[in-house]
Amino acid sequence: MKTILVTGGAGYIGSHACKALAAAGYRPVTYDNLVTGWRDAVKFGPFEQGDLLDRARLNEVFAQYRPAAVMHFAALSQVGEAMAEPGKYWRNNVSGSLCLIEAAVEAGCLDFVFSSTCATYGDHDNVVLDEDTPQAPLNSYGASKRAIEDILRDFEAAHGLRHVIFRYFNVAGADPEAEVGEFHRPETHLVPLMLDAIDGKRDALTVFGTDYDTPDGTCIRDYVHVCDLVDAHVLGLNWLERGKGSRVFNLGTGTGFSVREVIDHSRSVTNRDVPIVIGPRRGGDCTKLVSGSVRAERELGWSPTRSSLQTMIADAWRWHQAGHYDR
Ligand code: UDP
Repeated sequence: MKTILVTGGAGYIGSHACKALAAAGYRPVTYDNLVTGWRDAVKFGPFEQGDLLDRARLNEVFAQYRPAAVMHFAALSQVGEAMAEPGKYWRNNVSGSLCLIEAAVEAGCLDFVFSSTCATYGDHDNVVLDEDTPQAPLNSYGASKRAIEDILRDFEAAHGLRHVIFRYFNVAGADPEAEVGEFHRPETHLVPLMLDAIDGKRDALTVFGTDYDTPDGTCIRDYVHVCDLVDAHVLGLNWLERGKGSRVFNLGTGTGFSVREVIDHSRSVTNRDVPIVIGPRRGGDCTKLVSGSVRAERELGWSPTRSSLQTMIADAWRWHQAGHYDR
């Protein structure tokens, strides 16, 4: 059984990835500092607590488990926080990833799957984005992820580090069995905040801006189910195992939904009202982020099956009612 080192395995996407890896016959080992992750979320494979910047601890974990590959999810990921505290993002995301990449190369672990983001593209005036769209991030979060992509390319040239980069669009939903799910503290994402408003855990959902250049004035995003997203990671790992070389893939479905459309769907899925208030724009938000690429489907054989708004919200709602974590 091959071991895969999963950084951020105690987080939202990493915990779903561990479940998918275990189901595909791998042994996931979670490496997480629990700053934003949850010990309770590590349900598949061993847990090793550690920081990306702790090189000695990383060396120890690489020596103990001798992973065949790394899946690197661990990162700070809040756009608002990144705008206010860019140093935190450059240190944790960029310096931390550099430390991890150096440890992997030194340990001879040369297959690397990386979580990047559509935030590396920036705003492109309503254009659908494919992998060749120029990257011009609007915020330090996107900039930090783009910098890590550059590091991976340099390490491939110098040290033969083979990598698959996934640029995520908006990840939503939860494990349909509700073993793991989305649980951020503080929460900043649309779907869980909306579900909180629906069941009275918060007074209302604030809609950040209704004056965007879109049909209903609210921002448009391409939502992808977390289970579909992590399935792509297993396919990306298989791609590297087959010696196919480094590649960038967008992970979105090519369908955009506005904030208002997401709210309307939630009403029909939950049969409950969504209390909303209209607020100003949130700094750093792009008008529209939709993936125009079919590369992941064509080349990896990826076929998202749960990424309808209906299924994403239904799965998120099930988890919302059943699940939570403690550290
Ligand atoms: N959004 C909103 N109210 C909220 C949270 C998010 O109106 O309380 C909007 C946000 O402006 C964006 C979309 O919902 O247009 C998705 O935001 P999220 O933070 O979930 O993901 P992001 O697109 O920033 O990665």
